[in-house]
Amino acid sequence: PEPPAEAAVPQAGDPELVLLRRIGTVDPESLDDYRAAGGYNALRQAFKIGPARVIQEVLDSGLVGRGGAAFPTGRKWDATARQPDRPKYLICNADESEPGTFKDRVVIEGDPFSLVESMTIAGYAIGATHGYVYLRGEYPRALQRLENALAAARERNLLGTDILGTGFDFDIEVRRGAGAYICGEETAIFNSIEGERGEPRSKPPFPVEKGLFGKPTVINNVETLINVLPILEMGGPGYAAIGTGRSTGPKLFCVSGTVRRPGIYELPFGATLRELLELAGGAPEGREIRAVLLGGAAGGFVRGDELDIPLTFEGTREAGTTLGSGVILVLDDTVDLGGVLLRIAQFFRDESCGQCVPCRVGTVRQEEALHRMVNAPAGRRTDLTLLREVGGAMRDASICGLGQTAWNAVESAIDRLGVFPLEPAGGSGGTSAGTEQP
Ligand code: NAD
Ligand code: SF4
Repeated sequence: PEPPAEAAVPQAGDPELVLLRRIGTVDPESLDDYRAAGGYNALRQAFKIGPARVIQEVLDSGLVGRGGAAFPTGRKWDATARQPDRPKYLICNADESEPGTFKDRVVIEGDPFSLVESMTIAGYAIGATHGYVYLRGEYPRALQRLENALAAARERNLLGTDILGTGFDFDIEVRRGAGAYICGEETAIFNSIEGERGEPRSKPPFPVEKGLFGKPTVINNVETLINVLPILEMGGPGYAAIGTGRSTGPKLFCVSGTVRRPGIYELPFGATLRELLELAGGAPEGREIRAVLLGGAAGGFVRGDELDIPLTFEGTREAGTTLGSGVILVLDDTVDLGGVLLRIAQFFRDESCGQCVPCRVGTVRQEEALHRMVNAPAGRRTDLTLLREVGGAMRDASICGLGQTAWNAVESAIDRLGVFPLEPAGGSGGTSAGTEQP
């Protein structure tokens, strides 16, 4: 069993926290405790200012999606609110399955009412009467805490019809995933809820126009939604003052691997990777950080001598990697990098839904080539050529993000970490994959 939410938050109780402020200090099963700790002030504020102003505050805040893709949240809400088609739906994507990502589980287990309140605000802003939480099937404690929070909110008329006498009707239903990573892709979620096979659809049309049941839909990640509470409490511009100009607000980071204090950390955007790792205790005694995988299996590596990069969307992009959903997977000098890459390749091969050829075939070929490269260094040059061709085809021609990013981590390990040095070519001496194209 997973440790409880509060055990995964080493900063618990720190008064500077914004998103994690209640975790470990407030009973996650008590609506009274949640209210005593400021809960439902943001919903009251939303009702006071009305849906259009709520959207304006979210636009002004600069909030972008925390699931990994960083699309502006206010733009999604605004586009959906403007659609004439009815009904409209709100979905919280809680099918958190990116390897190394566990922040949404901790939020739902440790502060479930914050998600219920945020979703009520989002539903009110966009004009939805029905919301879904699509919850990862392997999160039983999160399910129990969420179901408890939903029941308590219904009992106090914080969900249901005519919420708090405002005339606004809204309720939330939980749907559980069944273990498929691809069902976290937004259009695969629509298919799954509709009772179809969980396969991605082609985009456009985007969900804001045609989403669940072909209707306008906002789909946001858990962390994205709970940011709406401080936005309404501080006002959009007040919130935007946290972080950097292009990455605003606080961010949750999922620190795992070879560090002394793994867990969920909250820092404002702009802190450096080094500062975060110091907070997490650094590498175990006597070991050195060799590499850090940012953004999860779909992300990229930075070397141990590149820890001063700022943790922002723009900073990680400029450094040739991605912040993604906030995965910080630390690998020290004892870790077998070839084995890590092979594991990532196996993951993508297993989780490809098989709908399109580049990904269905490419993820298998990628794993086969890596297997040979790990076990038989003599043929690496040919396999490296194959990997680059297959990786390029997956990136260019796959339908969804899974296939498009399945080569990212492997490519970055080869080019940035020099993980598979090539055999000497024609007696001209050894070279590394990072310095010579085969
Ligand atoms: P995307 O860039 O296709 O879309 C991001 C969001 O913006 C989507 O909701 C999309 O509908 C919306 N959007 C994009 N263009 C739009 C437009 N013109 N108008 C309106 N809406 C628009 O990315 P994606 O495929 O949804 O997500 C990929 C990301 O998911 C990756 O960064 C990956 O790291 C992350 N991911 C996260 C997890 C996790 O567990 N958190 C798991 C897998 C992948
Ligand atoms: Fe399925 Fe992969 Fe194609 Fe996505 S890219 S639709 S996961 S086969």
